[in-house]
This record gives sequence, C-alpha cells and structure tokens, in this order.
Amino acid sequence: TEAPVSNFIRAIIDGDLASGKRTSVVTRFPPEPNGYLHVGHAKSICLNFGIAQDYQGQCNLRMDDTNPEKEEDEYAAAIEADVRWLGFEWNGAVRHASDYFEQLYGYAEELISAGKAFVCELNAEQMREYRGDFSKPGKDSPYRTRSVEENLDLFRRMRAGEFADGSKTLRLKIDMASPNLNLRDPVIYRIKRETHIKTGDSWCIYPMYDYTHCISDALEGITHSLCTLEFEDHRPLYDWVLDNISLGHHPQQIEFSRLELLYTITSKRKLNQLVTEKLVSGWDDPRMPTITGMRRRGYSPEGIKLFSQRIGVSKGENIIDYSILEGSVRETLEEACPRVIAVLDPIKVTLTNFEAGVTASRSAPYHPHHAEWGEREVPIAPTIYVEREDFAEVPPAGWQRLTLGSEVRLRYSYVIKCDEVIKDAAGNVVELKCSIDPATLGQNPVGRKVKGVIHWISAEHAIEAEVRLYDRLFTEARPDAVRGDDGQYVDFKQFINPESFRTITAYVEPVVASAAPETRYQFERLGYFVTDRHDHVAGGKPVFNRTVTLKDAWAG
Ligand code: ATP
Ligand code: MG
Ligand code: MG
Repeated sequence: TEAPVSNFIRAIIDGDLASGKRTSVVTRFPPEPNGYLHVGHAKSICLNFGIAQDYQGQCNLRMDDTNPEKEEDEYAAAIEADVRWLGFEWNGAVRHASDYFEQLYGYAEELISAGKAFVCELNAEQMREYRGDFSKPGKDSPYRTRSVEENLDLFRRMRAGEFADGSKTLRLKIDMASPNLNLRDPVIYRIKRETHIKTGDSWCIYPMYDYTHCISDALEGITHSLCTLEFEDHRPLYDWVLDNISLGHHPQQIEFSRLELLYTITSKRKLNQLVTEKLVSGWDDPRMPTITGMRRRGYSPEGIKLFSQRIGVSKGENIIDYSILEGSVRETLEEACPRVIAVLDPIKVTLTNFEAGVTASRSAPYHPHHAEWGEREVPIAPTIYVEREDFAEVPPAGWQRLTLGSEVRLRYSYVIKCDEVIKDAAGNVVELKCSIDPATLGQNPVGRKVKGVIHWISAEHAIEAEVRLYDRLFTEARPDAVRGDDGQYVDFKQFINPESFRTITAYVEPVVASAAPETRYQFERLGYFVTDRHDHVAGGKPVFNRTVTLKDAWAG
C-alpha cells in the first residue's frame, strides 16, 4: 500500500502530540448494528484503524447499540467479520454502548443531583412545539423547575418500570433559547419496553445517542472521536455533557465528510430496502456496496484500502465516482492474481490443417512478473473456441483481430488465418475455418509481423463454468437524489439497472476447477474474476463472479 497521506485530522493529532495535550492516540469505530456495513463505513474503518496503526495507538470496535428495536445479533456478527476481513484488529474485546448502561445511568443521577437534568412529561408533539425552530427561541417545559428530589424519585421510578412507554423523558437543562437546537434541553433518556440484544429486559429506559456517545468515548479513553459532518452541531452537546459530569477524560470530536459514491447508495436503511424487497439476492449480493457484497464480488481488502486513501479525508464534499473504486481494485489485483484463459462468448474455430506437424501444447506462465507462481500446459486441438467479439465480418478500420483472410496470433500459440466463415440459415456466424502456420509457434518468422493476439481455448480440454456478470446497480449517478415534476424525491429503487446481473456459461481452463472459493484470477483480456464464496465448490463446476473488467467500460 501507498504511504499514509496526511489530512487535517492527522494534522490535529500531530499538534496534540507535539504540544503534549495527548501522549497517545486512541480512536474507535462505532457502528450501529442495524444493518451491514457499506463502503462509507469502510472509509471510516480505514481512517480510524489506519490512524491507530500509524500512531502506534489503539482503535476500539464499539457497537452503538442504544436503539434496541432496530438492532440484531446477525448484524453485530457481520460487522466483526467485515472489519477483520479488511485486515484490522480492534483493541481488546468488542465493546458495546450497552456495556455502559449502568455508568450512564449513574451520570444521569449525577446531572439530576446537580440540578442539570429533569424529568419531563411533555409528549413528542408538545416537545416539538416547545422546542421552537431556527427562527425563534423555544419555551421552557413546565416540568423544568421540578426539585432535585422529585426528579431523582421520578427517574428511579422510570427505571423501575412504573411508567408507560413514552410517558416521561429525562432532559438536560441547558438553554431553550440557544440558536443550536441540539442544546434546547435535549432528551437523554426515554422509556421503551424493548428487549435489547445484549441486556435483554433488564432495562426499560434507554439513553439517547448524543448522551451515550460522548460518555462511552470518555470511558474508553478515546482521544480523537472521528465522526461524520452531520454531527458537527452536536459537538457543543458532546462537550457540554462531558464538562458537566465527574469524568476526568474529555475526547475531542472531529468531523469529516461522508463518502457518497455515485451509481450506488450509501445508507444502511436504503440498502435494507433492497434486501427486504428482494431487489438483490441479499446483503452480500455482489452488486451491493456493502463490505460483504464487495468481498463476494472479488474486491480485495487492499483495493478498498487504496480507495479509502485516494478519496481523502476533509470537510469538503466527498462525492466519488464508482470508477475510482473500480480503478483501485483493478490496480491492486493486477500483480496479485494468476492469469488464465476463459472464453465467455464462444465461437467455434476448426483448425483445418491441425495434423500438419503441429506441437499440441505449450507451457505458459501464470503471470509475466511472477515466475515463482509457475506455469501450466496450454493444449491446442483441432477445435478451439475464440471470443465472438474477436471476429468481425466487416472489420472497422485498424482491426487487428480475426476477419476473413486475415492472420492473428493465438495467445501462447500459433498464428492462424481465417479461410472460411460458416453461417446458419439465419445468417449468424457459427464457425470459422482457419489454418495454422506451423512455423509460428511462439515466434514471428523473419519478415512476418502479426500484430493482433487473441485468447482462445481448446474445446476438448476446456471445462464449462458459470460466470456471473455484474454491472452497476443503478443507472442514475445519484439514485436517491432524483426529484420528480412535483419536486418530491423519486423512489431510488426505480433506477435499478436491469442489466446489472447476467449469468452465462463460459469455457475455462480446467485448472480453475480445483480452486477454493474466493480465488481471484485475471481472465486474460477480459477482467478479474473470483470463484464465488458460496456457490463455487472445489472440484465441481466452477462458479465465477466478474469483479471488474480490465478497462473502465464507463469511461468517456
Ligand atoms: P447509515 O445511514 O448508512 O446507517 P450511519 O452513520 O448511521 O450510516 P453508523 O453505523 O452509525 O452508520 O456508522 C458507524 C461509523 O461509520 C460512524 O462513525 C459514521 O460516521 C461512519 N460512516 C457511516 N457512513 C459513512 C459514510 N458514508 N462515509 C464515511 N463514514 C461513514
Ligand atoms: Mg449512526
Ligand atoms: Mg444510520
């Protein structure tokens, strides 16, 4: 991988270490286990874990599990697997915001005792009305002046389960006139009878995100709490809470912009819709921008890390074209994958003079730069398949592939000449009759120059493989930002690319059949392909996913 690129966050950390404000670096990645992680999370993972690595610090993995109705064990397990697959190791055990429920409760009593929090009985609608908006100050809740004793008693009874869901909240007493709406006496606890994935039914009150996050960070000794820009105006609340409780440590929240990747969606909630409405085969559909989807597609952790490095970290817009991700993946696969031959769309070629003293096989390296990977035999026989696109009846100017009467080199083998084109009744080309020049095995005889080289495979040696061809999931660059005539957002699911998935039967070299699932290859001249993580079985009919083509098909 490339050397770490500096960014404004690293500059802040450098300053803190130089001034002695901090002596070490502790970051955290805090996903909510309410879905699978996506490429946006990958950016945050690479940032948080990458900084910890580069500063010899630590990065914690913390499930932000304060929303019991949306969270599931399956998601938490998938998050751990995804972070590990990317190649990162978290500090100690996986942590959970719910690990701190008791401490969070204690600090809430502390705030009440200091006259800084009160139990409120306004309902959601009233609360909105009292809060006001940007144009006007809010009004104090009528419950704001309750005594400390009454607040403590009510809060304890909230915990004990004496009150109905939603009937009371605990709120901070900050400032109903603050221009920052987050400081207008925010709710920090609500009553909700919901079974929690970790704590079961032991709580019927749950702390809110803003209150939980800063305290969890502080309890873990986080030094730099990196989050996305939408939390910028929550920072005063983050700091207010930590300034008003007896917890000695105060992490610094730093915001950066979210990654938005064009031609896809970076929102767990929307990706969830694709899964539940069965518009994709699951969270790990190879078209999904989830980490597990990218993995199944054949993207490598190195490719995703390179991408994260390239897109940078700033407070400016981070709208990135899909081709940047594909390019990063392609680049990291180039030196990492053995190369084999596959013909995806075959046309039969009969070598009419095959017997005339031809050598029937030749050894070819798996990679031009990796002699240590060895070689395999590439056999030739009287019938071979070539790619339909490599033949043109009416060739465009500059055509260097097959056409009637022209010569072309078979990769690793002979030069052949097309002598005859056979068509079916409908006029489709079904076969080419070609002749081998026996003097050209692996060389151009003096005075002859054949420029075109095509890939091919011996019909009797090739095996069939199922190949799944993927393309971008959406036809729109920003599928969730398209407005209709009425000015409303159009449902992003309308823009699913109907050509984003296609299965074909291809011919491949037999050697790939013994590959384990998740083995990546370059199919020469075609792209990078991976044996499917679930459906490919070593020794069975191979099942491949196309990871990425060799060239950017969407460029220009
Ligand atoms: P989503 O809307 O997709 O659920 P989220 O921000 O609510 O996103 P979390 O599970 O809370 O998801 O995210 C965990 C961490 O990943 C957070 O620190 C968040 O800032 C970061 N993150 C999430 N989406 C992106 C993104 N698109 N770009 C960069 N970081 C992101
Ligand atoms: Mg979140
Ligand atoms: Mg979310």
